[in-house]
Amino acid sequence: RSSGGDSGTIAGSGTGSGSGTDSSRSGVGDASTMGETQSALPGDGNITSAHSPTKKHPITNDYKLSRKVLGVGINGKVLKCTSKATGKQFALKILKDSAKARREVEMHWCASSCPHVVRIFDVYENVYSGNRCLLIIMELMEGGELFSRIQQRADCAFTEREAASIVRQIAEAISYLHRMKIAHRDLKVWNGMELKPENLLYSSKQPSAVLKLTDFGFAKEVKADFKSLQTPCYTPYYAAPEVLGPEKYDFSCDLWSLGVITYILLCGYPPFYSAHGAAMSPGMKKKIRSGQYDFPDPEWKQVSPQAIELIKGLLKTDPAKRLDIQDVMRHKWIAEHTLVPATPLAAPKVLKEEADNWEEVQEELTCALHAMRVDPDTKPIKPITESTNNALLNKRLKKQQQQQQQQMP
Ligand code: ADP
Repeated sequence: RSSGGDSGTIAGSGTGSGSGTDSSRSGVGDASTMGETQSALPGDGNITSAHSPTKKHPITNDYKLSRKVLGVGINGKVLKCTSKATGKQFALKILKDSAKARREVEMHWCASSCPHVVRIFDVYENVYSGNRCLLIIMELMEGGELFSRIQQRADCAFTEREAASIVRQIAEAISYLHRMKIAHRDLKVWNGMELKPENLLYSSKQPSAVLKLTDFGFAKEVKADFKSLQTPCYTPYYAAPEVLGPEKYDFSCDLWSLGVITYILLCGYPPFYSAHGAAMSPGMKKKIRSGQYDFPDPEWKQVSPQAIELIKGLLKTDPAKRLDIQDVMRHKWIAEHTLVPATPLAAPKVLKEEADNWEEVQEELTCALHAMRVDPDTKPIKPITESTNNALLNKRLKKQQQQQQQQMP
């Protein structure tokens, strides 16, 4: 049963009854759609500018909600919905109203004009199933997650040149967000995006689909008190990252994530594995700290030296020595991505073989990223020379040995 029009579960939270404006046309910061049924997200007093207009009338006045679940995140479900005015389909993310949820919406709204960030069209404050909720109408990303798409490719059909073009798209989103954050010093509660594989979605199933970043759920209270620039969120930003001394560490986490994603794109498995398959085991922490990873054969044999050089620059254990986003944009493998050799990569084959482990890999990456952001201890410091065993890596090596034995005459 479609829940479309089910106002028994959804009720507007404002005083206005709502006129059912054509929500699909109300772009970010489009003042013409601001009416009596909209208000700015008040946040929790930390965000002083860049408010997103929210609607308080029931979402079901404007959209028909489907029961189709597009994905389930830690904060709840993402559903498909359709604009009643235009028939256009969108994705709806439902967040229980809280200061954290408001920050997430605020950050995502501000970033929404970047071509490589999933666009937000509308935000509603409604009572949903008895709870005060924020309902976010986003563009529908029909192409699914980055690595699912690569996994579906035929063996040998995914090339290093394509990988470079993917990394460039992600780097463009990072570059935009870093500039935005610098310009928005008042957004001190934002500790950046959640740059992890499941947050990278394709706009459609077509080969020309655009890769976009979604989910701004990670927000952390940072003590430093910056003076607000009072800038509206749809202003273009061209401030240089150098102006932001003490926050450079936040930025460098995103670059580390980009290094991990680039590594997986090129070979199909992550550079760091945890011991015993436990998410963020002490062993994995150690490996991340010590930069303990390599580029094993056969997957890395044909990969270009430029790609390896970029990954080494991104996975540098010392954040001060890690490449920044401008270095990445200037790097030959990114700036001249159309000239990167079209060598077939092992990634689709390995991702297919490792499909059962993928959830575990994602969980580990999420933990590693969170630990890196919130726990300065995880900041890589000491070099460790000897390698430790671990479940996932061993599984992969075993499989490799078996394959080699089978291939032997
Ligand atoms: P959470 O913040 O709760 O983790 P996400 O925003 O990451 O939630 O969304 C959870 C999942 O829903 C994603 O991994 C993705 O599969 C799906 N999803 C999210 N946004 C969209 C969208 N705009 N279009 C299609 N699917 C989406």
